[in-house]
Amino acid sequence: MSMVSINPASGEQIETFEEYDATKVMDIIERVHRAWLDWRYASFDQRSARFLRMARHLRDRSADLARLMSREMGKPVAEARGEVEKCAWVCEYYAQQASAMLAEQPVASDASRSCVAYRPLGVVLAVMPWNFPFWQVFRFAAPALMAGNAAILKHSSNVPRCAMTIEELFTETGFPADVFRTLLVGSSGVDSVIEHPHVRAVTLTGSERAGRKVAAKAGQMLKKTVLELGGSDPFIVMPGADLQQAAMAGARSRCLNSGQSCIAAKRFIVFDEVYDAFLEHFGDAMARLVIGDPLDDATQVGPQARGDLRDELHQQVLTSIAAGARLLLGGQPLEGPGFFYPPTILAEVAPGMPAYDEELFGPVASVIRVADEQQALTVANDTPFGLGCSVWNRDARKAEALAARVEAGAVFVNGMVKSDPRLPFGGVKASGYGRELARFGIQEFVNVQTVWIA
Ligand code: NAP
Repeated sequence: MSMVSINPASGEQIETFEEYDATKVMDIIERVHRAWLDWRYASFDQRSARFLRMARHLRDRSADLARLMSREMGKPVAEARGEVEKCAWVCEYYAQQASAMLAEQPVASDASRSCVAYRPLGVVLAVMPWNFPFWQVFRFAAPALMAGNAAILKHSSNVPRCAMTIEELFTETGFPADVFRTLLVGSSGVDSVIEHPHVRAVTLTGSERAGRKVAAKAGQMLKKTVLELGGSDPFIVMPGADLQQAAMAGARSRCLNSGQSCIAAKRFIVFDEVYDAFLEHFGDAMARLVIGDPLDDATQVGPQARGDLRDELHQQVLTSIAAGARLLLGGQPLEGPGFFYPPTILAEVAPGMPAYDEELFGPVASVIRVADEQQALTVANDTPFGLGCSVWNRDARKAEALAARVEAGAVFVNGMVKSDPRLPFGGVKASGYGRELARFGIQEFVNVQTVWIA
């Protein structure tokens, strides 16, 4: 079996990779486990030194790593450079914070001394998506390795060159051999990795469907999971909002990464009072976005990462229109080579339409009109997902009061939902469980050990 790297801007094949066979996979798991036996006893200083070097190295190679991402999955190159910078940031963040976050916590008890200690778990498997092909991996790897674990990456099958390059970066920056390894396997190869006794835990970022499969397997094997799944984030525009600012942020949030972000604003819930005015600003902001070659610095919207994903998105748009949604912008795949889909707005979106019920993983905004706060809240929570939410009102207290009642892992007021190493990241409901980033992220893959001394 081979994996193929395809340039989504042209549809042309870039290169092919041989998938690893079962023997090679088992050998790599053994090696990573052996590497872990030493790495778990490395000091925080030793681990930090590597991650600080990694941060410098990422910045030194930023231009070529960014081009690699853009070529393999179509991300606009300016955003790809931002992604590399964010990876450097998360490496630095945990290099500086891990020892304090995992310091022993003294606890008074009947012992002469008792405390909570955080020990590494072992080899952690990371099943990762293509949309932020570097960030998703570093967001997991920096805390996991700083905590003394070793890691195995199973990346999406459409980004094998990114997957191999990330593995190389760990070698280039002086990490011990095999502390971080990539497995070139398809999704059917994941179960046997989870079954391996040396693999102690699994983290998956991806679709709800993949999350359910991986969590079921891990549950059967009694292995801990963290799941970062899909989202259909509400973006609520209240009558007191700065409409122009909200519209600009909404368009940027919806179309970042060519619309392929889990925390993109997806359902625009707009109060009747400001509905028409907001749509005017929002339509302008969406129409102004520059769509084109992802390697061009001026491009704001590149192609969709794969042809099948673009087709699926278009089908969701067509079905929604057939069910009564009003098409205000876009709505037709671009002609010519590549998998381009333009910024699109669907208004009068209602239950029963894919644009209301499902995640739209592309630059398509669903706009829903509401009469008041109660209806806004009902619509915001009327989704299987619960990842992020953004609420807009110049009266931030009113917005915060509404946001507090939204079932989501993150609520933002007068700003678009984004991730930041200092703040926890994760969802509720079908968006998954567990947290990445901040103190919560590094404490996911540790043995919280009670120490009691008479
Ligand atoms: P995907 O199809 O679920 O793939 C994600 C990863 O899971 C890939 O490595 C994939 O491998 C693997 N996978 C798929 N089916 C599997 C199975 N049955 N068993 C084991 N592994 C399996 O998702 P995607 O299309 O790459 O990413 C888009 C989804 O990810 C969206 O729903 C998005 O919202 C979500 N996402 C969530 C976050 C978050 O932090 N919450 C961040 C980014 C994306 P193959 O490629 O080999 O199939």
